[in-house]
Amino acid sequence: NQPLNDVDPEIAKALDDERLRQEHTLEMIASENFAPVAVMQAQGSVATNKYAEGYPGRRYYGGCEHVDVIEDLARDRLKSLFGARFANVQPHSGAQANTAVYFALLKPGDRILGLDLAHGGHLTHGMRINYSGKMFEVTPYHVDEKGLIDMDEVARLARETRPQMIIVGWSAYPRQLDFARFREIADEVDAYLMVDMAHFAGLVAAGLYPNPVPHAHVTTSTTHKTLRGPRGGVILTNDPDLSKKFNSAVFPGMQGGPLEHVIAAKAVAFKLAAEPEFIELQNRTVEGARILAERLMTDEMAQAGVHVLSGGTDVHLVLVDLRESSLDGQQAEDLLHRIGITVNRNAVPNDPRPPMVTSGLRIGTPALATRGFGATEFTEVADIIATALHPELSDETVSELQARVKALTTAFPLYPALG
Ligand code: PLP
Repeated sequence: NQPLNDVDPEIAKALDDERLRQEHTLEMIASENFAPVAVMQAQGSVATNKYAEGYPGRRYYGGCEHVDVIEDLARDRLKSLFGARFANVQPHSGAQANTAVYFALLKPGDRILGLDLAHGGHLTHGMRINYSGKMFEVTPYHVDEKGLIDMDEVARLARETRPQMIIVGWSAYPRQLDFARFREIADEVDAYLMVDMAHFAGLVAAGLYPNPVPHAHVTTSTTHKTLRGPRGGVILTNDPDLSKKFNSAVFPGMQGGPLEHVIAAKAVAFKLAAEPEFIELQNRTVEGARILAERLMTDEMAQAGVHVLSGGTDVHLVLVDLRESSLDGQQAEDLLHRIGITVNRNAVPNDPRPPMVTSGLRIGTPALATRGFGATEFTEVADIIATALHPELSDETVSELQARVKALTTAFPLYPALG
């Protein structure tokens, strides 16, 4: 039992390099965050050694008395965080959670409605070459010309196609959703309503985004985005019969042994998400995105062909529209990477450029808020990004922006205890 550095110096080095990359850049990928050290400790624990097929109190392996405590705590904390009656914390990822729900409630060939990928939906909501698109008959709904989900279209498509399930949720959408209205539409056509709150779960926990749980038949989430836990998925419902179906769809339907070390880390994250500091964190997250949106909506940016989809944001991300800019999504992503800011390019609705290039950027604030950034730092970050998003940036300006990024990363050390 030698330390990692001795056993495998190559992996140890790559991990250390990754830690340094996180430390020395501004992480603005909207789906990422920095898990607290306590979460990582739980994940890197002896619970990784344990097989525990089944659920607490009903396992197919001996020696589960302690992992039962872990999984019960995770489930209870999750239920209390979102006001749900039933929870499953075993899905290995967000995609697995969604798959389990589909397996539980749908059969191949059933009809589903989901937000179009190019309009902010997720792969698992019916994208053509994802299993969800191959297995089900998908009708996508869209955002309107203002960038807002077109609820009239959702209602019309529901009436026309009579889907078995309406999937609500997004990977790139900057506004709140009207879950009660979605439920009305689902009830009218006798469809299940599934909400995937992967992106905004942390905001819901902090009371900054409407809670879908009272409205949806089932709510899924990841645990590693705004919720700031380990990578993983969860399923929530208030319906006891559905809850049984989800449990058997996860195990034995789709997965074998649960990752109890990850479940321990989820439990820690759920505990932290119920504390007042978490609300303060999510407030800074949303405020940071608002500051960024406002800076990118100035006349100066409009003249450079840079716009913000939906004219602002209510959440932890901003969608930058580069359709009128000579910079495309790929160039803008590369440019920001050069100055030390990590974002991802993103297709905008009716994007004229190809999917590998795109005409947009998705920029998120959760990781920087976790790092400690507040209004002052987000104002500086917004100005750095605004300055960078010009096609012919001189080398001198690039160096100046790199120095401004360095000043921010130095002032807010990440994981000082691990350095
Ligand atoms: N659902 C939504 C809305 C997402 O944005 C994502 C990931 O980006 C997922 C599900 C999938 O999560 P995972 O990457 O853990 O499978």
